[in-house]
Amino acid sequence: MNHPTTRDLQATLDPQRKSWIDSANDAACDFPIQNLPFGVFSTAQDAQARVGVAIGDQVLDLAVLHDAGLLSLSSAQSANVFARAALNDFIALGRDAWRSVRVQLSSLLATGTAETATLRDDAALRARALVKLADAKLHLPVDIPGYTDFYSSKEHATNVGSMFRDPKNALLPNWSEMPIGYNGRASSVVVSGTPVRRPNGQLKLPDQERPVFGACRKLDIELETGFIVGRGNALGEPIACEDAEAHIFGMVLLNDWSARDIQQWEYVPLGPFNAKTFATTISPWVVTLDALEPFRVAQPVQEPQPLDYLRHAGKHGFDIALEVLLRPEGASEATTIARTNFRHMYWTMAQQLAHHTVAGCNTRVGDLMGSGTISGPTPDSFGSLLELTWNAKNPLELKTGGTRGFIEDGDELTLAGWCQGDGYRVGFGECVGKILPAAR
Ligand code: CA
Repeated sequence: MNHPTTRDLQATLDPQRKSWIDSANDAACDFPIQNLPFGVFSTAQDAQARVGVAIGDQVLDLAVLHDAGLLSLSSAQSANVFARAALNDFIALGRDAWRSVRVQLSSLLATGTAETATLRDDAALRARALVKLADAKLHLPVDIPGYTDFYSSKEHATNVGSMFRDPKNALLPNWSEMPIGYNGRASSVVVSGTPVRRPNGQLKLPDQERPVFGACRKLDIELETGFIVGRGNALGEPIACEDAEAHIFGMVLLNDWSARDIQQWEYVPLGPFNAKTFATTISPWVVTLDALEPFRVAQPVQEPQPLDYLRHAGKHGFDIALEVLLRPEGASEATTIARTNFRHMYWTMAQQLAHHTVAGCNTRVGDLMGSGTISGPTPDSFGSLLELTWNAKNPLELKTGGTRGFIEDGDELTLAGWCQGDGYRVGFGECVGKILPAAR
């Protein structure tokens, strides 16, 4: 493995670079050659899950490429880390390996490089290495040892605080001093497309002394992104804020399904529990921080200035357009119910990771960290139905008829996200889940 140079990496981001896979050059395609997100897939012909990269309307099978000798890793690394059902072993090789593989893949898939013909003109290899995305079954991309969810959008925290506490003091004093978070549940993180069953739980109805047990009546989404830890830290050894991005492999879209009525009754004093543990959906492709580099922007101004351990120089926000769509069962089309952008997030991913580890908590390769609901400044940019409908007081009108305060059985919720380049976009694919009726 060669250590990729800055120039090699820059070439992978060149907006002019095209692929010989034509579908990748479509301006509306989520997976142009500048993206190269990593995932795990299988096919009807080969049920063994393995690592792939999305390119245009295809998946490139990295296990096949490695066996064919077209991907070089370090000489000490002879095992095929791509012939695995999760990205963890590849991620654990470290950032030089991620970058080297990115540079090699870009050269193999691009037109006009020394490597262009290697795969393009080898029909037999191409037939084994490229699978139509439509024919691929996509799996959870990483084994997730731990899942943490933050609460880092000022607009979201203000909206929720206004609704449930006091509009005059919507933000609690600690919110502006640290990225507030809680330890979530890794076992129920599922890949896009997995149906989600409406949870049962304790509901405290306003006119009754004691709670009743029953199906959630206020089922909601939370529009979030998540980052995947690429390099962990040892117990007792915090990650410095300035170094934190080097510990991040990449990002996914994340829907933190939330049962608002269960949440409101159970959350005091230790925070959400069953209201959040029943399912969290993530998108199947991990978009690397290297691919997101051209879309780096300044985070919002932080006032008061954070404590020293939460300070980092430079820009640590990312310009990622985000959308939420709702399609009722049987409806011919979905309604876009929210549009916002990741750039509004107050606390950065680096600050979240620094804060998570500052007391000595260790993190591990594959850990998932949710951003917190991403709400923008305007009412159509809120990242949950709770905010969009203001706790069902202002139901949303759907294009295909009917209204929604919260989610109904059979509704399909889709998150979409992309970075808009000049003539191309670096997309995340979809993060979809359909709601099934509660268990009886
Ligand atoms: Ca959340």
